[in-house]
Amino acid sequence: MSDERVSLLRARIRDVPNFPKDGILFKDITPLLADVEAFRACIELMAERLDGEAVHAVVGIESRGFMFGAALADKLGVGFVPVRKPGKLPAASYRAEYDLEYGSDAVEIHQDALERGDRVVVVDDLIATGGTALATKELVQRCRAEVAAFVFLINLVDLDGVAKLAPSRVIAILDY
Ligand code: AMP
Repeated sequence: MSDERVSLLRARIRDVPNFPKDGILFKDITPLLADVEAFRACIELMAERLDGEAVHAVVGIESRGFMFGAALADKLGVGFVPVRKPGKLPAASYRAEYDLEYGSDAVEIHQDALERGDRVVVVDDLIATGGTALATKELVQRCRAEVAAFVFLINLVDLDGVAKLAPSRVIAILDY
């Protein structure tokens, strides 16, 4: 995409080799968050790419998905629903297990977070293997809602996580 905003975002992502373990090239989005122009451009691009998709809520994945997801929810004029690491949500929750690029984990959602038939946008900073996003889709479906689209700032293309989410719509602002 030859948008100046995309170049700005790319310039505000810092590569940190061997974090959190050897062999991982960590994509650090904190410089982007700290730059008001870049952060705004990022949320604008996400909203534009959704192109009027009618949604009832934004579901953000802990913890970097909260930052982008909450801002996007505000921009779209809908509520925000957190998907959290195990044991963090206070009320009755559903849980889904998944494998990470580094380790394994689970995610949870409040059982009453969504209404039956709701269409939601699931947001995270980055898709690697797609395991976290797929587990989140399972949680949305357990709530009898559906994923209208996934939105990621970064797609690590070689790991092919997007294929795991088929046939859902997947939007990524930056491919690496
Ligand atoms: P995955 O489930 O493999 O798609 O992993 C996605 C989750 O892990 C996201 O919440 C990312 O924030 C995090 N993650 C995985 N790989 C990286 C990476 N190379 N740089 C930054 N975050 C990563």
